[in-house]
Amino acid sequence: MADIKAIDKQYVANTYARFPVQLVSGKGALAWDENGKQYIDMGTGIGVTAFGFADEEWNKVVIAQLNLLQHTSNLYYTEPCAMLAMGLCQRTGMKKVFFSNSGAEANECAIKAARKWAAEKKGPEYFNIVTLQDSFHGRTLTTLAATGQSHFHELFQPLTPGFVHAPANDFEAVKAAALQHKTAAVMIECVQGEGGVTVMEKDFITRLAAFCAEEDILLIVDEVQTGNGRTGSLYAYMHYGITPDIVTTAKGLAGGLPLGATLLGEKVEFVLGAGDHGSTFGGNPVSCAGALSVLNRLDEKFLSEVREKGEYIVSQLSGAPGVESVSGLGLMIGIKTAKSALQVLESCRDKGVLCLTAKSKLRLLPPLNIPMDILKTAVDAIKAACAE
Ligand SMILES: *Cc1c(COP(=O)(O)O)cnc(C)c1O
Repeated sequence: MADIKAIDKQYVANTYARFPVQLVSGKGALAWDENGKQYIDMGTGIGVTAFGFADEEWNKVVIAQLNLLQHTSNLYYTEPCAMLAMGLCQRTGMKKVFFSNSGAEANECAIKAARKWAAEKKGPEYFNIVTLQDSFHGRTLTTLAATGQSHFHELFQPLTPGFVHAPANDFEAVKAAALQHKTAAVMIECVQGEGGVTVMEKDFITRLAAFCAEEDILLIVDEVQTGNGRTGSLYAYMHYGITPDIVTTAKGLAGGLPLGATLLGEKVEFVLGAGDHGSTFGGNPVSCAGALSVLNRLDEKFLSEVREKGEYIVSQLSGAPGVESVSGLGLMIGIKTAKSALQVLESCRDKGVLCLTAKSKLRLLPPLNIPMDILKTAVDAIKAACAE
């Protein structure tokens, strides 16, 4: 049998510190490796496989679309693309959607739209975008510049200019940064995922939204990780009762296929015209069909179950031996462990539970529809690993 790990090490670029597991197949919240060992998946490919592996309903829709057309380019109309855009607008009140293939691209589009809007409305010197420290917005040179973590920047100078970073959950600091520079937009995550599962405070977000509206600065909410039911509402901003000008999303949107979306609100609905932006793969009918099936299942009853499962995890782990604190919203959870998060992750893996880390925390992003009995088994294993 071919040594897949060795071949991968030799031929795939060394950008990923892979875990020593080769995943072969999955069903729902379970996955199997090359030796047939079973795991409970508490990571969903970093918040992507929202309904788990090989979900029957999702597979059916995606395979049906594959049998019709796998790609057309954006020179043609297709039903999945149009219906998904309508669904996203109807569920959010946003006006238009630009489709791409990833979170970074969804944010690139948001940044381009904000800059064009500000240049036309306020003048070309209003190009700055304020983002938060410990944010994560992607790996392209522009979204890296937006990312408020300097260790990502060092090797890739010069980055796209025009990004200013201010501390998260500090309204006065963000306001001062936005007023000090000629600012097009403020871009935030409601829960910083890669930054360590840090939940933004209600007061911070509501004051920021009011300030942006007053100063005619766009508010961009990056829902690449928090979106599509992950936090127990369709989008995390909905917990805060605000209306962003632009919402970006990707990861869980299409349930496991590459798809990014930039949702444009009233102020920026008509900013991007023909030729201003584009994508060859964006709005791919197979990805959009998968996403439509995901979106249609995220009703209020389902979202309340996501919240309940999240509360169950938090209640089980808060104050447990070896657990210092638990943060998060819905099924996006960060655990500050007494031992290093990586050690706990490895112990969980030995016990058959696949977890993630975020900065110094253990991070859980289980399938949104994980059955309660499987979730209990996983939480018991995580608890045991923390206590070791
Ligand atoms: C993952 C992530 C991105 C980048 O998404 P890619 O699909 O990897 O480009 C951007 N923003 C946030 C908040 C993310 O979690």
